[in-house]
Amino acid sequence: MFDVKQISAGYGDIQILHAISLKIERGEIVSVLGANGSGKTTLLLTLSGVLRPTAGEIYFSDRRVDCLEPHLIVKQGVVRIPEGRKIFQEMTVLENLELGSYIRTAKIHRKENLVKVFTLFPRLEERKHQLAGTLSGGEQQMLAIGRGLMTIPRILMLDEPSLGLAPLIVMNLFEVVKRINQEGTTILLVEQNVHLALSTAQRGYVIENGRIILEGGSDKLLGEDYVRKAYLGI
Ligand code: ATP
Repeated sequence: MFDVKQISAGYGDIQILHAISLKIERGEIVSVLGANGSGKTTLLLTLSGVLRPTAGEIYFSDRRVDCLEPHLIVKQGVVRIPEGRKIFQEMTVLENLELGSYIRTAKIHRKENLVKVFTLFPRLEERKHQLAGTLSGGEQQMLAIGRGLMTIPRILMLDEPSLGLAPLIVMNLFEVVKRINQEGTTILLVEQNVHLALSTAQRGYVIENGRIILEGGSDKLLGEDYVRKAYLGI
């Protein structure tokens, strides 16, 4: 589904990503792991067209997308849930969800998608008229994911969904992420919480200083000495 070939990217003169290559197959959950500042968000910004790679190529469903504007990449079904949720605080839950379906293909299916989102997150239906800024952290993360689902993604890219949330809330949230995947959406999961990410994903990539230093099945990565020492403190 995604075929990323040797991309480099950064901000102005500062290069952050160095020749990153990765592949994501349809139906997978793939995680990208790494410490603070390793380049995970930069990678997602590049995959979603917000940042232009300075080298390399990105293919989505065999179509080259690294030259497309971000809104055209969204139209292909590539949807990013940003770190820190970035919901519209002064708007209601329902208004935030409706904004997710602004593209034409999603607008046509707005009603049935809303039912799907409310089935996954009943809490959002209970609070649909509440201002988003007054939701709890966990509810705001549900809303951010729900808004992404309203766009009818083929791949959902989640940037640190567990950030700042209590363990029980994170567990429930990740159960829903697995359900979203079982219902047919491919997932790219960016996380600092290595254990959580690898117990959710089938495969993962470890990124350090903008380079992929390890990749493989989740079980293999969990067994790697480097991952155990650097990320799990074992
Ligand atoms: P975190 O887990 O802390 O969010 P990350 O792995 O997602 O980290 P990035 O946000 O991709 O890391 O940041 C990678 C590097 O790029 C960091 O050194 C950061 O300071 C730098 N960076 C991020 N955004 C900008 C920007 N707009 N201008 C310049 N440098 C930036």
